[in-house]
Amino acid sequence: MLLSKYLLPTLKETPADAEIISHKYMIRAAMLRKIAPGIYNYLPLCFRVIQKIEQIVREEMNKTDAIELLMPIMTPAELWMQSGRWNVYGKELMRFTDRHEKEYALGPTHEEVITSLVANEIKSYRQLPVCLYQIQSKFRDEVRPRFGVMRAREFVMKDAYSFHTTEKCLDEYYKKMYDAYSNIFKRCGLKFRAVLADSGAIGGDNTHEFMVLANSGESRVISCSNDKCGYAATDETADSVILRPVKEEPAELKKIFTPGKKTIEEVSGFLGIEPCKLVKTLLYKADGNVIAALIRGDRDVNEIKLKKIINANEIELADADTVSKITGCAVGFAGPVNLKNIKIIADNSLKNLNNFAVGANENDAHFVNVNYNRDFEIEKFYDIRLANKGDKCIKCGAELEDYRGIEVGQIFKLGKKYSESMNAVYTAEDGKLKNYIMGCYGIGITRIVAAAIEQNYDDKGIIWTLGIAPFSVIVIGLNKPDTKEFQIAKDIYEELKKAGVEVLFDDRNVSPGFKFKDADLIGIPYQIIVGQKSLVNNSVEICVRKTGEKISVDRNEIGKKIFEFLKES
Ligand code: ATP
Ligand code: MG
Repeated sequence: MLLSKYLLPTLKETPADAEIISHKYMIRAAMLRKIAPGIYNYLPLCFRVIQKIEQIVREEMNKTDAIELLMPIMTPAELWMQSGRWNVYGKELMRFTDRHEKEYALGPTHEEVITSLVANEIKSYRQLPVCLYQIQSKFRDEVRPRFGVMRAREFVMKDAYSFHTTEKCLDEYYKKMYDAYSNIFKRCGLKFRAVLADSGAIGGDNTHEFMVLANSGESRVISCSNDKCGYAATDETADSVILRPVKEEPAELKKIFTPGKKTIEEVSGFLGIEPCKLVKTLLYKADGNVIAALIRGDRDVNEIKLKKIINANEIELADADTVSKITGCAVGFAGPVNLKNIKIIADNSLKNLNNFAVGANENDAHFVNVNYNRDFEIEKFYDIRLANKGDKCIKCGAELEDYRGIEVGQIFKLGKKYSESMNAVYTAEDGKLKNYIMGCYGIGITRIVAAAIEQNYDDKGIIWTLGIAPFSVIVIGLNKPDTKEFQIAKDIYEELKKAGVEVLFDDRNVSPGFKFKDADLIGIPYQIIVGQKSLVNNSVEICVRKTGEKISVDRNEIGKKIFEFLKES
């Protein structure tokens, strides 16, 4: 490809609305241009990276025997009504009406479409299992589209759906997909973790998210420091073991006046106790009911875990009025002693804890030396806690670490969620009609482009790993088009192109400085620099973008050397 004929309008200035490095570089390196919030043109350089990723994804999907197809983007409301999601999806689903007043949605995911297709076309157990996938644009009207293609409103996704007759078959296929996903992210040159995750609105109870580790990530990953153990989960689901204070002889319950002391720091400081011995009582409104959650003062409630335990759709912290109505005191002084008629959910960090302090349900007062099952009842303990860095791993006891991650893919065991709601059945071996058991598997193709940049860049620009680089080599001719040096550069370019190398030739009539800057910005792994020296000693320089290493190579050896590099990486 000749750069003079390519569409590569690079920019010197950092765009004002770009907050994270990948967004900045994707605009500056002429990969991306916004046309509306969260909606982008993918310029040729970006499109090549997308195609590279798609190819890797295709190869790994095909290895699992998944079959590619293409479903429509425009999806009729009836299908969404059958599954029940038309009313629960909310504003993220982009809906519209056609000229016949029929309602449609732009597909944000395709469980409904595929389930309906399979129910119509695959009717016998003999045709199962089957997995179908597509690579296609998806639409989600995100509340806050941001970070470029990381959280866009239109983006490219690979979505796959598998159909089985038994749970065992689904489990086996899920494992295959897990391995395929690991291979995909490895081949894309990404540092990632597969983490246990919450199944959210899609449903099913077994799911992993694949997280690319990067400081700009919107998710928190808690993972074990012991590599052999490998435990990792999102902060929404992570479990952990925490150190407990030593159990003491139960002491006498006492009320202490704590005027104006509300926060954990204020109260524990005033009472002269460790924050872990002050138990917080948080009142939540859960689908209209009020419940109390008890947790150690040094810990926070994981609302997703709590929501699951009490089987609620929505929970939120109760407002001051509700707190006052139930406890008779202001927020900050609520406690479980004498708290009547509301359900108490206690975190298991309270097990073994005794002689602790709690609010006294009275303004400006706390109880100390509180012991459960003496001063109030706890029937059962639950895990409602956010895991933290420094806690101990539940699997091996090693210390947990805490990373930020970008979710690039997710795999779910859906079970019969969609086949039941959409009445999708096959004829089983015993002649009975049964619901398919399903799995679904998504990968954010365009998000991977940004995630890869978040992991591989320096102050000069992007550093592509070879697996997904738009070109492997850029030939930089430093001299003007009518010089001998230029001719040498052109010959090298032609030679590599003929040999099948993906090579870009910077043949523009601009200054060397300009060419170097652009080459570094767009991050092609190998730069071949042809200048005056090349005439004198018949050699050219190869610069490795990642390390900055410069190697002088005999003009005639260039093809051989480049192939060595491409093989190594
Ligand atoms: P998130 O939690 O980031 O909103 P999600 O869990 O809703 O994502 P899935 O439904 O699991 O996403 O979609 C599969 C994949 O599609 C995600 O793992 C992610 O890589 C990608 N993806 C989801 N939403 C977006 C978006 N708005 N822009 C770009 N990629 C996205
Ligand atoms: Mg997800």
